[in-house]
Amino acid sequence: MTEPAYEVYALKYAHHDRHSRENFLVEDPHDSLSPLAYYVWVIVGGGRTILVDTGFDEHMARRRGRTITIPVATGLGALGIDAGSIEDIILTHLHYDHCGNHHVFPRARYHVQDTEVEYATGRYMTHALMKMPFEVEDVVSLVRRVYAGRVVFHDGAGEIAPGVSVHKIGGHSKGLQCVRVTTRRGPVILASDCCHLYPHFLEGRVYPVTYHVGEVLEGYRTMRTLAASDDHVVPGHDPAVLELYPPVSQDLDGVAARLDLAPRAVTMVAG
Ligand SMILES: [Zn+2]
Repeated sequence: MTEPAYEVYALKYAHHDRHSRENFLVEDPHDSLSPLAYYVWVIVGGGRTILVDTGFDEHMARRRGRTITIPVATGLGALGIDAGSIEDIILTHLHYDHCGNHHVFPRARYHVQDTEVEYATGRYMTHALMKMPFEVEDVVSLVRRVYAGRVVFHDGAGEIAPGVSVHKIGGHSKGLQCVRVTTRRGPVILASDCCHLYPHFLEGRVYPVTYHVGEVLEGYRTMRTLAASDDHVVPGHDPAVLELYPPVSQDLDGVAARLDLAPRAVTMVAG
């Protein structure tokens, strides 16, 4: 089957100001500001619209001390996409910042890894440290969708549509998956939390919330193999993504960027 050349958007919906010591497992002696951006991603082409992750809502932003910059449904609307009509959603993993906004997507099927659901509902969630990035209501909502026939399970690599596939990485969360998308500039990897910031991937560093450090580091290698080049790997929380990639439109500068177009400069090394 021919693979469409998809358009891919990064849509930033929230922000958190913090220091670099919160973002790296081994402390940086030059602790500096290292804010996080929160994104969802949209893949459009071949008559399909596929959403990657669903973000969190205002209630969760307050609970977690984050700032919503544009609600996910509003941001999708600005891209010309009606959230209510989306039929396929890939959840890269079940951390609170990737799988909320439960009532916004009534028609969607959710694609997840077997391992992530086992992990989020299993014995490790009895430990405060390990359940910290999860929210029970997110997990319960997903389980309800399993019983409603609205979840598609993947084990390792899986095809979502021609030219769109998921790949299990693990590491940061046990069943974390990245997404590979065919575009005009070659295959792009939406890393989500397989790589939070450019320095993680480019310098072999690790985000402190980690189920398995070895899998994080192996994951960087796997993504490099799956992507056309390092400039085709898109980190999940780096504010620089919106500076590197061209905005979807003038109005959406700083909100949504085109990842299927070449970045404006070579990838950022640690700042
Ligand atoms: Zn995240």
